[in-house]
Amino acid sequence: MSVQGVHALVRRTHEARVLRVLREHGALSRGQIASKVGLSRTTLSEITGDLLSRGAVVVVDTDAARRAGSGRPAELLTLDPSSGQFLGVDLGHTRVRIAVADAAHDIIAAGHATYPAESAWDERLDAAFALIDRTATRTGVSFRALQGVGVGVHGPRPAVPELAMPFAERFAAPVVVDNNTRFAALAEAMTDGPDVHDVLYIRLSDGIGGGLVVGGRLVAGAGGVAGEFGHVTAQPGGDACRCGKSGCLETVASVPAVLSGCTNAGLNIDTIEDLEAALTRGDPVAEAVVERAAAAVGRVVAAAALVLDPAQIVIGGRLPQCAPALVRRVEEILAGELCPVGGARPAIRAARLGDDDGARGAIAALFRQSPLLDGYPDPVR
Ligand SMILES: [Zn+2]
Repeated sequence: MSVQGVHALVRRTHEARVLRVLREHGALSRGQIASKVGLSRTTLSEITGDLLSRGAVVVVDTDAARRAGSGRPAELLTLDPSSGQFLGVDLGHTRVRIAVADAAHDIIAAGHATYPAESAWDERLDAAFALIDRTATRTGVSFRALQGVGVGVHGPRPAVPELAMPFAERFAAPVVVDNNTRFAALAEAMTDGPDVHDVLYIRLSDGIGGGLVVGGRLVAGAGGVAGEFGHVTAQPGGDACRCGKSGCLETVASVPAVLSGCTNAGLNIDTIEDLEAALTRGDPVAEAVVERAAAAVGRVVAAAALVLDPAQIVIGGRLPQCAPALVRRVEEILAGELCPVGGARPAIRAARLGDDDGARGAIAALFRQSPLLDGYPDPVR
């Protein structure tokens, strides 16, 4: 190979590394790119100059909003946003949500649709594909350069190949499948930046699930079911659970459990909106049922916290969205349950992300830039 040939090859290799770093991280300054790819600022400037002139990379903004210090704000570069899309799909208990991110990692489209709780997988998938088509038509987003599909499913141990294949065949892109609550935990933990190490996440919605970040890694467990708070026994001999046991946390603190708890106590409500209205007007029955749910969540979370010693506990899902006081009650119960054996008491907070947290986490699993995903399985191709 000639000297020019070698030079071109080295250059292409550098270019590929710069593009890969931008694909994984979204917008970065030249300094950040240089340190991530291990190139000098001079070499990097030549490469980014060339990529910018070809339109493969664009300047989106400056880092002025993020920086604390003085000095001229640095320009942020990203891949041409339209050069790639990432699709996140959250197949929940009764609804599917999707989110689409572009190559700059911005969410450019989102949507949701509902289906009956007893729907079979093929019906759920049909609903998901119809939603993807409608959303694409409505927003004008195309999937021409789709880089990957993240699919979150509710319940333990999803049947990965059966779920991944329809998406892989439809889009000819790599597919990641995992528990949707674990994806939500990933998305939530990432809102705290790169230095999160020990987070316990619990989601109280139609069902109850959770996710654990231990030692800076998202934990799946030996059988893929780590974080199943919903089926921890909260009330021995209590109501029958869909899992076959009785008295699971899900029979006390899921949205359907709280709604039926209210109805059984004489408060006739059907929906979570009814519950929210009852709590807003200070209905004592609704408050008592939510208190019972908070107490059960507090005890289960305290047991997990005593075992894992998390720095942070995050409570998400539709129940705390409609009953925000629940988070403070769980905190009080936790304070009484944790023994003062030293160490710091975990910080407890409500989730920051909304209902699209599972779809966002599925996209985050495709970006793979978070250290939380070290050792995470590769996408199915
Ligand atoms: Zn159960």
